[in-house]
Amino acid sequence: VKQSGKSSFSFYFDELNTDANRLILLDSELRKAIEHRDFVLYFQPKVDVKLNKVVGLEALVRWNSEKLGFVSPAEFIPYAEETGLIIPISEIILEKACEELVNLRKAGYSKLPISINISSIHFQQSNFLESIQRILEKNNTSAQNFEIEVTERTVMNSDQDTISKLVRLKQLGFKLSIDDFGTGYSSLSYLVRFPVDYLKIDKSFIQHIVSLADKQAVVDAIIKMAHRLNMQVVAEGVESLQQLNYLNEMGCDFIQGYYYSKPVPMEELVEFLQFWEYE
Ligand code: C2E
Ligand code: CA
Ligand code: CA
Ligand code: CA
Repeated sequence: VKQSGKSSFSFYFDELNTDANRLILLDSELRKAIEHRDFVLYFQPKVDVKLNKVVGLEALVRWNSEKLGFVSPAEFIPYAEETGLIIPISEIILEKACEELVNLRKAGYSKLPISINISSIHFQQSNFLESIQRILEKNNTSAQNFEIEVTERTVMNSDQDTISKLVRLKQLGFKLSIDDFGTGYSSLSYLVRFPVDYLKIDKSFIQHIVSLADKQAVVDAIIKMAHRLNMQVVAEGVESLQQLNYLNEMGCDFIQGYYYSKPVPMEELVEFLQFWEYE
């Protein structure tokens, strides 16, 4: 009995290891997760380097599937974008962010905003603004409590539709960030036309900032340009004190990364905040 149990166990995992089978399972598990609203948000603090204050929290989705275990958003978000499942997932994420905001406010943090990552597929939907407004209204909350992160790739084309959506988001009261900045190889001139508040430098630039001169040059240029355009700069993926000091010297405004905290559940984040000044 023992032996046959073992062989069927390993057969199961051999099957799982083929890409096609994983995709089939990912698809059915994801649909189940949507039905049961089985996603959780973790939060990572954004720190003002000069004031040594927490100024916001980024929400990052987590999914623990029954059959696949923990699946990274870097895997399931792109799949959800391909299949259109991203729309119901985005709505669940937004609703959960509204719920967690209530918990954050109850814990006494009356102003800290929550940043939400918006997928390009969702952003490009014609009813994107309406869908966001509907969820805010349903949860009795307002845009002032949130920041929206769209990737450089999402806004790279800078067509009229993109710009007018960004303008309307600003009018509603959202703060806007361009995420993964530096990876899109887009023309920088379009930035002037965007009403954005923050540029988030991609962590691939931060990773080698202490040792690689070309990364240093890019980060330095991004910070100077952003400041000339009245934008502030967030460095993501900061893991060491050396990186932090380097970025601080370059005039980077905000830091996110494991150096301060990994993304954690709201309960843990609230404990983290006890030891910090905050906005
Ligand atoms: P992102 O928006 O660029 O998020 C930053 C990623 O870097 C997160 O990975 C975060 O956990 C990780 N990170 C933070 N600090 C450090 C650090 O010091 N070192 C390293 N090595 N990594 C760090 P995560 O949570 O796995 O998310 C990956 C990507 O999945 C996100 O990249 C975003 O594009 C997407 N994503 C995550 N949550 C959501 C969501 O709620 N909605 C949407 N549409 N996309 C999401
Ligand atoms: Ca982000
Ligand atoms: Ca990013
Ligand atoms: Ca990224």
